[in-house]
Amino acid sequence: MRRKRILITGGAGFLGSHLCDKLIESADIICLDSFFTGTKSNVAHLLSSPHFELIRHDIVRPILLEVDQVYNFASPASPVHYQYNPIKTVKTNVIGTMNMLGLARRVRARILQASTSEVYGDPIEHPQKETYWGNVNPIGIRSCYDEGKRVAETLMMDYHRQNRVDIRIVRIFNTYGPRMAVNDGRVVSNFVLQALRNEPITLFGEGLQTRSFCYVSDLLEGIVRLMNTDGLTGPVNIGNPAEMTVRELAELIIEMTGSRSPLVHRDLPSDDPTQRRPDITLAKEKLDWEPKVTLREGLARTIDYFEKLLSEAAV
Ligand code: NAD
Ligand code: UDP
Repeated sequence: MRRKRILITGGAGFLGSHLCDKLIESADIICLDSFFTGTKSNVAHLLSSPHFELIRHDIVRPILLEVDQVYNFASPASPVHYQYNPIKTVKTNVIGTMNMLGLARRVRARILQASTSEVYGDPIEHPQKETYWGNVNPIGIRSCYDEGKRVAETLMMDYHRQNRVDIRIVRIFNTYGPRMAVNDGRVVSNFVLQALRNEPITLFGEGLQTRSFCYVSDLLEGIVRLMNTDGLTGPVNIGNPAEMTVRELAELIIEMTGSRSPLVHRDLPSDDPTQRRPDITLAKEKLDWEPKVTLREGLARTIDYFEKLLSEAAV
C-alpha cells in the first residue's frame, strides 16, 4: 500500500512537531509553518528523513499541495502570542482555514481542524459537552482567538454541507509537554520555568480558576484516532478531565522541582475563564480513547525538558 501524504500546518510548533514525529512512522509528511511561534529546531531531527518536507508558508495565502490528509494546526495558541497581533490571529483562523478547506476540496483530502475549548468561552455549563454553545465575549481581548476558532468551525461545517468536504473537528483542552516555547506564556511552561529559576511564580488573580491539563502524547493519540474514524464530522472534545486550580498546579510544580520560588499575585486578565473541564464521553464511546498519562508523569517529563534546555543555554 502507498504511504499516505499528510500536510501538517503549524507543524513546527509545539503540538504540530510531536504530530510530525508520530505520523512519520507510516506516512510522508509535509510540514508547513510560518515560524511565527514555531521553530526549525522542533523538527530539525526530521530534516534528513526522505519522508519529511518542510515548507515556510503563511496559510493566510493560498497554496496547492497534493495530499491525502490535512491537519490544520497553524495558529498561535497562547494568549500572549494570539493577542500580539489580534487581526493576524483572526486572519489565520478565518482566511487561513478557508484556504486549507479550499485545498482539501480541490484534492479531495480529509481535513481535521484544531479547534479549542475556548469556543466555550467562560463556560456556564460544567463540565463542557460538545453540545454546549458556549459563553464567549465577541469584543474582548480573547475574542480574536475564540471567535476566530468559532468561525473556523463554522467554515468546516459549511464546506462539509455545501461542498461535501470530508472534515473532522477536535476541541483541544489545555495541553502541555516538551517543546512548548520558552516565551509561550502559558501556565505550565511559565510555572515550570519560574520554578526552575527560583523566580516568583505568577498567579493571575487568586489562582482559584480551574483548568484540566492533558499531556501531549495522550492528546495526539485521540486526534489521530479521530482523523481515521468514519462518521464523526461534528466536534469532539479531547482533553484530560482531571481538573485543578491554577494555585494547586503551582504548588505541585514547586514540590516536584524542589523550588524556593514564592507565589506572587498578578492582575487577572479580562475574560479569563473561571472553570474548564472536558466531558470526554463522546471520545470514549466513539474513539475508545481516554488519557493515560497522569499529571505527575507528564509534568516530570516537561520539567526534564526545560531543565535540559536551561542547562544548555547556560553553557
Ligand atoms: P504553537 O504556537 O506552538 O504552534 C502553532 C504553530 O502555528 C507555530 O509553529 C506557528 O509558527 C504556526 N503558525 C501560526 N500562524 C501561522 C500562519 N498564519 N501560517 C502558518 N503557520 C502559522 O501552539 P500549539 O500549542 O502547538 O497549538 C497548535 C494548534 O492547536 C493551534 O491551532 C491551537 O489553537 C490549537 N490548540 C492548542 C491547545 C494547547 O493547549 N496546546 C489548546 C487548544 C487548541
Ligand atoms: N495563568 C497564571 N499565571 C501565568 C500564566 C497563566 O495564573 O503565568 C493562568 C491564566 O490566568 C489562566 C490559566 O493560568 O487562568 C491558564 O492560562 P493559559 O494561558 O495557560 O491558558 P488559557 O487561559 O488559554 O486556558
